[in-house]
Amino acid sequence: MGPRIVLLGVPGAGKGTQGRRLGERYGVPLVGTGEILREAVTARTPLGLRVQERLEQGLLVSDEIMIDLVAERMSRADVRAGFVLDGFPRTLPQAAALDRLLGERDLGLHVAVYLSAPVEVVAARLATRLECPVCRRTYNPTGAEPARAGLCDNDGAALVARKDDDPVSVHQRIDVYFRETEVLRDYYRGSGRLVEVDGDRDPDTVFAALAAALDGAVAAGRNGR
Ligand code: AMP
Repeated sequence: MGPRIVLLGVPGAGKGTQGRRLGERYGVPLVGTGEILREAVTARTPLGLRVQERLEQGLLVSDEIMIDLVAERMSRADVRAGFVLDGFPRTLPQAAALDRLLGERDLGLHVAVYLSAPVEVVAARLATRLECPVCRRTYNPTGAEPARAGLCDNDGAALVARKDDDPVSVHQRIDVYFRETEVLRDYYRGSGRLVEVDGDRDPDTVFAALAAALDGAVAAGRNGR
């Protein structure tokens, strides 16, 4: 059985990049709620049409929609082995719902990772971030550039900027983070499940620190449950 991990941090802290690597390390799926929503928008599904405006403005989608979406995702077979959750929970009701959902299956989270990074650093990262439209991997000129400029290392697709990485939405998303999501640090710290890692370093250094912190926490969590 693999670990159950939640990633926390301001947009641009590196949750997607590190989450992908953690998923590979522990052999569990990375579940990114932002990514699921962006795919729904692109495919113009009923969900996508409902949430498109909120996404583009950098505002949160309602707890009700998000909790239903994650409940459905958590009922699939692949997450029985564990998961890395990126982008959920983002509010206290979502965090409580996740605990409830896992509790119904006699499971718990092993650890919530808080990736810290100064606001000026994440704002600069988001302003220059590019994403692969096929595999959703993200790239950045500061330490995470692709091998061939403008093309994804995995599949060679042309990289694009996310619509909500424009300066107005970035500002909004950072504001929303401090208003709604930062409180989750205390939520998980209070229940002894928080691991804090400095995300203001190059991706390899951050990953080494994460792996060192998580191997212990995951093993302890497994023994405790
Ligand atoms: P992300 O890719 O995590 O930055 O998410 C992109 C956008 O998807 C956010 O700005 C929100 O509009 C929406 N979103 C993703 N996850 C959630 C969530 N757990 N609660 C509310 N909105 C979300």
